[in-house]
Amino acid sequence: MISPIVSGTYSFECTLCGDCCSGNMKIPLNLYDLYTLSSHLGYNNTSRMFEEKVLVWTEGQNGALQPFIRYKTSPAVFCPFLVNCIEESGEYKGRCSLHQSGAKPLVCRLSPLGRMKDLDTGEESWVLIPPTEQCEGIKCSKRQSLMGQVDSLEQERIWEDRFFRILQKIEEHALGKMDIYGHLYHFNVTLPFSQVINNIENRIEFLIRTPSGQTEYGASRQGAAKE
Ligand code: SF4
Ligand code: SF4
Repeated sequence: MISPIVSGTYSFECTLCGDCCSGNMKIPLNLYDLYTLSSHLGYNNTSRMFEEKVLVWTEGQNGALQPFIRYKTSPAVFCPFLVNCIEESGEYKGRCSLHQSGAKPLVCRLSPLGRMKDLDTGEESWVLIPPTEQCEGIKCSKRQSLMGQVDSLEQERIWEDRFFRILQKIEEHALGKMDIYGHLYHFNVTLPFSQVINNIENRIEFLIRTPSGQTEYGASRQGAAKE
C-alpha cells in the first residue's frame, strides 16, 4: 500500500486506545532517543538498557542494525512503557508513560506521520502511515497542521539525520561492521548530547579508518545485547 504524502494538513486525533503500542509493532530508536530514554530511567550509560533487556538491537531499515524497544510478552505483547489496563472484554487500553517526559521516541512522537529524508539532497517529506489497520484516530475528521506537529521537533530531526549518516557510513564499510555497531549504541549520557554525538561521530570515523582499533569491548557488548 502506498502511503499518502502529507504537505499541509491531515486528519488525525488519537483516541488513546493503545493498539499501536502492542502486538507486532516495532519501535526503532535513534541515538538521541537512546540518550533521553537512558536519562529518563536514571541510567548513566545506555549499556544498562541492553543489559536489562529494555532494548535489543536488531536489523532495521536498509539492513542497518538499530536498537528497538523490547516488548513484554506476558500477559500479552505490548510496549513496557504502555500504562495499560485490561478491560473486562480482555481488550488493552492505555497511554504512553513517556508522553510527558521528553523521552518518548521520535518515531512515536511523529506517528502517524512517517518521515522520509534524502541525506544527499537534504529533502524531507512526510507520509501518513496508519499506526494500525484498526486505528480510529486516523479516521477522525480533526485536521492537524503538518508544520504544527513537526516544527517543535526540528532539533530532534537534525540529531536523527546525523544518526542516519553514521548508519550510512557503517553500512558502506563492511569490514568489522558488527564490532562498530557494538560501539555505536553504548555511550555515557552524563554529557550534553551535542558533545555525545560529536564523540560518537569521531569514534566511528576512527574505527572505520582503523579497524584494528576495534577493541573486544564492542564484541562483548554486541553479544550481550543483540537478539
Ligand atoms: S491505534 Fe490510533 S487511536 Fe489507538 S493509540 Fe494508536 S494512534 Fe491512537
Ligand atoms: S514508547 Fe510510548 S508511544 Fe511508543 S510504543 Fe511505547 S508506549 Fe507506545
